[in-house]
Amino acid sequence: MVALAQTENDAAGFADRLIIHSPGSGEKLGEAPVMDAAEVQAAVARARAAQVAWGALSVKERCAALRAFRIKVVQNADALARAVSSENGKPLQEALTHDVLPFCDLMAYFEHRAPKILAPQAIHLHFMIQRRSYLHCVPRGVVGVIGPWNFPFSIPIGDAVMALFAGNATVIKPSEVTPLIALKAKQLWDETCRDEPRLHPDLIQIVTGRGLTGAAVCTSGVNQVMFTGSVPTGKKVAVACAERLIPCVLELGGINPAIVTADADVERTAHAILWGAFANSGQVCASISRVYVARPIAERLTQRVVELTASLQQGDPLNADTELGAMTFLPQIAIGQGILDDTIAQGGRVRCGGTPNGRFFPPTVLDNVEHGWRITRDESFSPLLAFISVDDTETAIRCANDSDKGLMAYVFCGDEEHGARIAERLEAGTTMVNNAIDSHGAPGTPWQGMKESGLGQVHSAQGLRDLCQVRHVQTRSWVPWLTKELWWYPYSPKVYGAFLQVMRVMWGGGPLDSFLRKVGK
Ligand code: NDP
Repeated sequence: MVALAQTENDAAGFADRLIIHSPGSGEKLGEAPVMDAAEVQAAVARARAAQVAWGALSVKERCAALRAFRIKVVQNADALARAVSSENGKPLQEALTHDVLPFCDLMAYFEHRAPKILAPQAIHLHFMIQRRSYLHCVPRGVVGVIGPWNFPFSIPIGDAVMALFAGNATVIKPSEVTPLIALKAKQLWDETCRDEPRLHPDLIQIVTGRGLTGAAVCTSGVNQVMFTGSVPTGKKVAVACAERLIPCVLELGGINPAIVTADADVERTAHAILWGAFANSGQVCASISRVYVARPIAERLTQRVVELTASLQQGDPLNADTELGAMTFLPQIAIGQGILDDTIAQGGRVRCGGTPNGRFFPPTVLDNVEHGWRITRDESFSPLLAFISVDDTETAIRCANDSDKGLMAYVFCGDEEHGARIAERLEAGTTMVNNAIDSHGAPGTPWQGMKESGLGQVHSAQGLRDLCQVRHVQTRSWVPWLTKELWWYPYSPKVYGAFLQVMRVMWGGGPLDSFLRKVGK
């Protein structure tokens, strides 16, 4: 395996173009412009103009039109997977099954369901029984999407198509580390638009650049921001959106715990933890990084994970049998190395793996670790996995929840029902029982973080509705002949007394009250 030197891309500094090299081979892949605030505003203006006709289509028409893009992506799936793997350094199979495949599933899922999810919803008005109320979903306008480098296709392009299903146009700012895949997606979008007249090329805009370009998206007049990235940047985005009173969805970092009870199936748990910790070289917001394992099975589980780790193939990401590729972002290696060094200095034992070799960080298993050390608090975004032995499940739950983040949590347990009870007590946006990390691939479920891991959600019916203004309309329904409502002027002791009487009869605990509760009114 070749130890690669820092590439030109990592050293790009403030040059006015992004120069992208493959983390795996060092080969130059391409360039992208660094766009300034004026260029971002121009992109937003183009998107806004295209959104008018798009937003006027019915949801069903939009879904039918978007199907063409999904088919185009499937036709180009192999080329896209290769492009993701080359630019990001993840294994080819992960590029296909973590980026391209879930994107296609997301599209197919919402093509079928968006019309129902976004259909007007009636509201029962309870006391104001003479009225009719409903909610209807209206596109927000232009949605800014700011993405990270670890899932350079499925996250920004997936967020963008959700915004499109909701009737918006989008302006996507990909990470400066992986802009080429977004440009490739845009090229496929433009090709699709040639064959599908309801789609307009300007509905998707790509603005490439560094942090300042991302900041410009937030201040460019967009109507909502969907941000995925680190906690510090997410806070800046939240402030920028708050100043403009526009909503933002924030999907931020995690330091995700797994709890393993004494009755867990060691073989499945070992395989799940292995994949959950080392997929994409640990550069996954949902990665398993700290395992609180019941002491009686701790050594057996750790040893099995170590054995399985030894069999993983690390190397050229473009080989179809490679299981760990290259680290995408050079500074991340130093962060991981720093956390590893701290753990060793505090008494942690390296069971396998260790020092990175250029861009390649070996999958590293540590035990003898104590809760509270940096490895249990800071996101390493590297293939580092810490085992912490605990005496009981209560201690494991307390340690798992003792974090300022709450993205994902995992429970490995012999009894799924018992596992679900533990899961309900964990402070995480999603907790998986006897499974690992792939919940983002289930588009019907919400993807969301608690505490510093985020605000709002993507995916799911609610995530789609959140991309709309949900407006409320109220009409008179079956009493249009009433010239005025009873609580309008004039006021009088008689009306006052009548309302008192109505309240006593309806809600005072008498027979009508009991009847109404019984029939659910
Ligand atoms: P960053 O926060 O560094 O960057 C995210 C995006 O924000 C990039 O496009 C970046 O541009 C842009 N950006 C930088 N500064 C600003 C700014 N001031 N205003 C607006 N945008 C800005 O995150 P990473 O790309 O390093 O991604 C890794 C992080 O993302 C990890 O913490 C990981 O946990 C998290 N993540 C969370 C996920 C979730 O769903 N919860 C999923 C995937 C990752 P540029 O790259 O050009 O600097």
